Amino acid sequence: MAQRVAVSDVAGGSKRTSRVRVAVRLRPYMDKQDEKGEGSCVRGLGPQNLEIINWRNSTETLQYQFDVFYGEQTTQQEVFLTSVKPILPHLLNGQNASVFAYGPTGAGKTHTMLGSQEQPGIIPRAVREVFHLVLDLLSPNTQDLPIREDKDRNILIPGLTHTQLSSFSEFHTHFIPASLNRTTASTKLNHRSSRSHAILLIKVVKSQRVLPHRQQTGKLYLVDLAGSEDNRRTGNQGLRLKESGAINLSLFTLSKVVDSLNAGVGRVPYRDSKLTRLLQDSLGGSAHSVMITNIAPEYKYYFDTFTALNFAAKSKLIVNRPFVRETVSTTESGKRSRQQQGCETSAEPK
Ligand code: ADP
Ligand code: MG
Repeated sequence: MAQRVAVSDVAGGSKRTSRVRVAVRLRPYMDKQDEKGEGSCVRGLGPQNLEIINWRNSTETLQYQFDVFYGEQTTQQEVFLTSVKPILPHLLNGQNASVFAYGPTGAGKTHTMLGSQEQPGIIPRAVREVFHLVLDLLSPNTQDLPIREDKDRNILIPGLTHTQLSSFSEFHTHFIPASLNRTTASTKLNHRSSRSHAILLIKVVKSQRVLPHRQQTGKLYLVDLAGSEDNRRTGNQGLRLKESGAINLSLFTLSKVVDSLNAGVGRVPYRDSKLTRLLQDSLGGSAHSVMITNIAPEYKYYFDTFTALNFAAKSKLIVNRPFVRETVSTTESGKRSRQQQGCETSAEPK
C-alpha cells in the first residue's frame, strides 16, 4: 500500500515538473480604457475558469480553464503566495525556475512582475523570499548573518552561499528604482517598452566551504515579456511570422515550447529563438515554471485578450448563453456601478 503511494507520487511528481503552470490574471476594469462605456467583455467564473464574449456571436461566451484564474480583486500577495513562493525552495537544491508575465501591453504584466512601491509585485517579493530561504538555511535560529564583500566586490555569505546581492534592501535600493525609472520613461516610449522583454536572473549559488568544494546553482528567471499584441499582428501572416522581428519570433516560439512541454510529446523547439534558448534550462525538464497571462477586461483589448487566452490554453469551450454584463464590485465604494452600462444584452446576475 505504502509502496504504491510512493510510486504514484514519483510518477505524478516527474510529470508535473516539466509542465508549465498556467495562470491567467484579469486586471481591474478601468474607465479611462473604455471610452465607449461598453463595460467588461471578460469575467471570472471560479478559481480556474473564466469566460469572454464570443466575437462570432455575442449571445455566446467562450469559456476557458487554467491552472489558476486570478480575478480583478486578487492581490499581489495572493499571486505571489500561490504561484511563485512554492517554487522558490527548489532553487536552493540547484534546480531552476522561471516566471513569465505574458499578455498585451496595458494588461498588467509589469504590475504583476514589478508592481509599485505600494503594491510590490513578484520580483521584489521573490528576491525577499530567496533571502529569507538562504538565511533560514544558513542559520535556522537567527535571521542575522554576517555578510561580506571580497576585493572583487563579490558579496559573500561566509560558509555556504555566494551572491552578488547582500540583502533585500540592497536589491531594493538599486534594482527597484532603476526598474521604476525604466517604467516611467517607458510611458513616453511605450512603443519601445512594449517591444522588449525585461529579464531578471537570480542565481542562487550554494557552495560547501570544506573540501570537496561542491557547488549547486539554482537559477530563477523573472520575465516581463514584450506585449503579445505584436505577435497577434504578425500571427495572421502565417509563414511570414518567421521573418518578422525577434520579439515576434520569441513569443511565437515560447508559445510552441509551452505547448509541447504541456502536451508532453515531440521535440521542444527551444533553439528556435534566443529567448527560449536562454531559458532552456529553466523551462521544462526538472525546472519549475509559471506563466501568468495578463488580460484586460475592456472591449478595446478584446482581440488581444482572445489571442492571449488562446496562447495560454489550447482548449476552449463555447457556451451558448448570454454574457452577463455585471462586473465584480470595484474597490472604490460610492463609484457608480458600471453594470449594464452600454449593454446590448442583459441578463439577471445570479
Ligand atoms: P503591461 O506591463 O502589461 O503593459 P501594466 O502593468 O503597465 O501593463 O498595467 C497597465 C496599467 O494597469 C498600469 O497603470 C497598472 O498600474 C494597472 N494595473 C495592471 N494590473 C493591475 C491590477 N491587478 N490592479 C491594479 N492596477 C493594475
Ligand atoms: Mg509593461
